[in-house]
Amino acid sequence: MNWLMRKCKNCGHYTLSWDKCPVCGGELIIPHPPRFSPVDKYVGQRLKMKIEKSVLKLDEKPSYVP
Ligand SMILES: [Zn+2]
Repeated sequence: MNWLMRKCKNCGHYTLSWDKCPVCGGELIIPHPPRFSPVDKYVGQRLKMKIEKSVLKLDEKPSYVP
């Protein structure tokens, strides 16, 4: 889905207009947060840290395995 909504930098007015704010003529920004990425760039580093801090023990069986 495309992000159609824009928000005015000056007055905070939400609009579907692309070029400028219909209320005050101000600059528009995209009010949406960045999309969540399933590709975690830091998963390797976090895993390494957990192993080093002995939070995660690789030689132990997980408790949910019978
Ligand atoms: Zn405005």
